[in-house]
Amino acid sequence: MKNGHSHLFIPGPTNIPDSVRQAMNVPMQDMRAPDFGDLTKPLFAGLKRVYKTTEGRVFMFPGSGTGAWESAITNTLNTGDKVLMSRFGQFSHLWVDMAERLGLKPHVCEVEWGKGVPDNEYARVLEADKSHEIKAVFVTQNETATGVTSDVAAVRRALDAAKHPALLFVDGVSSIGSIDFRMDEWGVDLAVSGSQKGFMLPAGLSFLGVSQKALEANKSATMARCYFSFEDMLKFNDDGYFPYTPPTQLFHGLKQSLALIEEEGLENIFARHYRLAEGVRRAIAAWDGCRLCATGPEWHSDTVSAIVVPDSIDARDVIRIGYEKYRTSFGSGLSKVMGKVFRIGHLGDLNEVMCLAALGSAEMALRDAGAKIELGSGVAAAQAWYMSPFAESVKVAAE
Ligand SMILES: *Cc1c(COP(=O)(O)O)cnc(C)c1O
Repeated sequence: MKNGHSHLFIPGPTNIPDSVRQAMNVPMQDMRAPDFGDLTKPLFAGLKRVYKTTEGRVFMFPGSGTGAWESAITNTLNTGDKVLMSRFGQFSHLWVDMAERLGLKPHVCEVEWGKGVPDNEYARVLEADKSHEIKAVFVTQNETATGVTSDVAAVRRALDAAKHPALLFVDGVSSIGSIDFRMDEWGVDLAVSGSQKGFMLPAGLSFLGVSQKALEANKSATMARCYFSFEDMLKFNDDGYFPYTPPTQLFHGLKQSLALIEEEGLENIFARHYRLAEGVRRAIAAWDGCRLCATGPEWHSDTVSAIVVPDSIDARDVIRIGYEKYRTSFGSGLSKVMGKVFRIGHLGDLNEVMCLAALGSAEMALRDAGAKIELGSGVAAAQAWYMSPFAESVKVAAE
């Protein structure tokens, strides 16, 4: 029963291209060697291109995305600062939770799970904050728990319209490198990501894009920080070094994944993610009794689809059966949507036929779990989309 590959369709860690895996199979090396910067300096430059920043910089901390969340907060804010946040899924919830635990005072907009950042409400709150007590505004660009993408540019417009000086924090862990993201153009001050999603690497690196405005805020910010401090990184990074032992194998992997990203081109990658995601969405629409957790097209995520199963079945059975019987991993329903939702991650190193495999496996697991969907209905809808000239024109238009 172990023939062939297992199938990984969780929204991170994602599938790793063979060339990236092989690039990491190198001997250990001296992280203080005079030529170590030859490996690391191009990585900083490559990350800046993916983040679309020329004015800011990108830090790499050994850690996961959560580490970059913490770094962003502790380096630029002060205990007791008021911040504007919204909660509409497990990841936006966890960032609120972290902010509270670190001593911030979040104004939290509670939003139905299935929708995203309420930019109109943000605009009202910012407009009303004449004394500029709010020091930072937080956006979870892609809520991985519900498959919802929010409009970062709209939040920038709200800040500008209110002439509000708050820093703009964006969680781009499951979006940067897969979905349109423009750090400089959108005036993002702190942009969080990690290695194991769109960057197609193992977990182990947290990436943090930091604007000049955020670096300025860092100079007077008094919150306690140590491992994730900007100051220590700044002392070493320009020469390609780190204040503590960096994961050199991951750097070799990142070098190759950045090369793949540049070869395909960011705009083509975004178009591919749309094309693949749209096939998955059409499949879900064809499954009787199933629907997307995202409540409308304006929220559709091109990196992950959260699927609400019929009331009569338990999504945990779909996930368990998928794993045990069909060797396919789907993402689980987190927290509030546990048992109601399973997720298909469609980001990173992925193509049409892989998506069809995920959908075929999901159909069998759904049927085994008791859903009355028609076998092949979703697969056929996705096939029709992947074959259609329109899907192709999306690709060509972006090239
Ligand atoms: C995965 C994820 C995180 C957490 O990242 P870790 O690498 O698990 O620490 C944070 N935010 C979003 C949106 C994510 O998808």
